[in-house]
Amino acid sequence: MPIYKAPVEDVLFLLNDVFHIERFANLSGFADASPDIVEAILGAAGKFCEEVLTPLNPIGDRQGCRRGEDGSVATPDGFREAYRQVVEGGWIGISVPPEFGGLGLPAALTQTVNEFMASANMAFAMYPALSQGAIAALLTHGTAEQKSLYVPKMVAGEWTGTMNLTEPQCGTDLGLIRTKAVRQPDGSYKITGTKIFISAGEHDLAANVVHLVLARIEGAPEGTRGLSLFVVPKVMPNPDGTLGVRNAVSCGSIEEKMGIHGNATCVMNYDGATGWLVAQENHGLQAMFVMMNEARLGVGVQGLALSEIAYQNAAQYAKDRLQGRALTGAKFADKPADAIIVHPDIRRILMTIRAFNEAARALVLWTSIKSDVAHRSDSARERETADDHMGLLTPVIKGVLTDLGFANAVMAQQVFGGHGYIQEWGMEQVVRDARIPMIYEGANGIQALDLVGRKLGRDGGRAVMAFFAEVQGYVKEQAADAAMKPLVEPLGKALGHLQQATMWFMQNAVAKPDNAGAGATDYMHLFGLVGLGYMWCQIAAAAQRKLVADSSGRMNAKLVTARFFMERMLPETAAHLARIQSGAGSTMELPAEAF
Ligand SMILES: Cc1cc2nc3c(=O)[nH]c(=O)nc-3n(C[C@H](O)[C@H](O)[C@H](O)COP(=O)(O)OP(=O)(O)OC[C@H]3O[C@@H](n4cnc5c(N)ncnc54)[C@H](O)[C@@H]3O)c2cc1C
Repeated sequence: MPIYKAPVEDVLFLLNDVFHIERFANLSGFADASPDIVEAILGAAGKFCEEVLTPLNPIGDRQGCRRGEDGSVATPDGFREAYRQVVEGGWIGISVPPEFGGLGLPAALTQTVNEFMASANMAFAMYPALSQGAIAALLTHGTAEQKSLYVPKMVAGEWTGTMNLTEPQCGTDLGLIRTKAVRQPDGSYKITGTKIFISAGEHDLAANVVHLVLARIEGAPEGTRGLSLFVVPKVMPNPDGTLGVRNAVSCGSIEEKMGIHGNATCVMNYDGATGWLVAQENHGLQAMFVMMNEARLGVGVQGLALSEIAYQNAAQYAKDRLQGRALTGAKFADKPADAIIVHPDIRRILMTIRAFNEAARALVLWTSIKSDVAHRSDSARERETADDHMGLLTPVIKGVLTDLGFANAVMAQQVFGGHGYIQEWGMEQVVRDARIPMIYEGANGIQALDLVGRKLGRDGGRAVMAFFAEVQGYVKEQAADAAMKPLVEPLGKALGHLQQATMWFMQNAVAKPDNAGAGATDYMHLFGLVGLGYMWCQIAAAAQRKLVADSSGRMNAKLVTARFFMERMLPETAAHLARIQSGAGSTMELPAEAF
């Protein structure tokens, strides 16, 4: 069975020593996040994930969810009790404003707890995470009545949330949505249609499920301009929050799928179900985007989370498994063979994964702090800059962290040899679970197109220019420091590649959009490498400051890992740039019938 140890110390190092979270004490809720509170929350959540969620993960995988004839869905054994403990821990509403029952603490804490939960048991972690997304959408776009009726119940875990976009004929292209909404005299709407692949659409963890549903009001325009967002509860709440009658929405079936078996992926049938409009008519997509952006970051965190659990288990296995001798002579001469951790190729795998994990975690926390600035700062300028950062980094975090999360899970499986392929060690489950974050919440190709097609040019390129200026400024500032020079020099070179790629798109993709489409995924990964490289420089700078006082070897390990990233991973930026600059020619030349 897989082991898991929540990386609490690493998160505390990032928050305190790298990002100096105390600098943001002017933001509401940050002053309450004192070091002892943060440590207590992360410590308790970590322990719960290690002791409760980790052992439930293979059980959930093997049992899956079971649908009864009446459309009810039973989650795997142990999930109900674990969910009760999540509710008791108050972890769903860590960052929700206190007036809605939350703790109002920084989003970085929510993302961290979500990372721990997803490492330990991703299928389970999706139930509370979907509630968090629905809460965010309702808080931003719901009426005062909707907020007070739904949000406290969801924060308290009594009701959970879902997002309903996908239909059989409509995945990426939301303009194809057919689910229909008909206005009623009392101001409500009757919703009719079929949604597929709805995560946590039905289950036995909570008494009610609050569906956020995209649908088209009768007579609304075609395409995405005619979509509206509705809140459609499984059981209709009375005005005092008690449960009333059952709504006409039900689970028609649950999907048999490759992984995350413990999460119910449902076909949801809306048979004239009662719903209420969220935001204005025909402005549904903008409202749903709040939930989608929240979910995209959350899905990026899933990629990191699975890479982390994969790493921890592979590292342990590599220290235990005896095969062959080190190239430089026996290292465990008293044993029949050396542990495979002596082999450079095994080290290559472990170093690659840990160099990703630590920097990816930093990227997530940095972006979480920006999201709090975007929502909580008094300064309009600060809010705008932070919002720009969020827009730019969201597709990068979603796409890069999940692509590499899966790649890392596969690499970690390789450390186990044949034992990685059989069920006993849990690695094949990690690989299967790690596949879906690349697909849902906008497949990664779509994230890349969002970055290149929408985010780069938005507001005259303001966000990307600010990102370049920040990284360039940092490189210049640190170049004079002899210890930092070997790290910032390659970062400066990689940034140059990113700037050249951006310029190439400006010159070659406007007239020939296929050039942008063919280079988008490379651009997203080039961007991700620069972002991770920037994080490694900041981690290394903090590690340098603590090096002398640190007797554990942790800071030195960070410095070595930073060097590994610069020497062995960052040079990929050159290959990405070369591919981008080759354009779409050979990609698009063959006619469709040649495939
Ligand atoms: C386990 C699971 C859980 C899910 N949970 C939810 C949920 O809770 N709620 C929900 O609403 N949906 C959910 N989904 C649906 C998921 O978000 C979609 O599957 C996903 O968005 C892709 O849509 P699709 O499957 O129809 O693929 P398609 O849209 O058919 O895309 C197929 C491929 O073509 C590419 N492609 C499509 N259009 C373009 C384009 N214009 N340019 C370039 N490439 C393109 C895509 O990137 C993809 O690789 C879930 C799916 C799964 C499998």
